[in-house]
Amino acid sequence: MRSPYTRVENSTLDGTGEEVNYQVPEPFERCVYCNTKLLFTHDLNLSYLEVIESCRCPGCGVTKAPQRFTLQ
Ligand SMILES: [Zn+2]
Repeated sequence: MRSPYTRVENSTLDGTGEEVNYQVPEPFERCVYCNTKLLFTHDLNLSYLEVIESCRCPGCGVTKAPQRFTLQ
């Protein structure tokens, strides 16, 4: 039986499918410059129910902009 979705299946066979986007994220990130494991720090701000996540590369000292998460 032919399915109208056959084309979608074919598109995943040539390596351009979306499967790559569904990989489980690694528990840590690596520095884009020196590939050193980044250090994450989480500052819990209970007053605002926020977590501020900062990360820094111990290898070259690069820091990423802190990200703010709101607790729910
Ligand atoms: Zn680095």
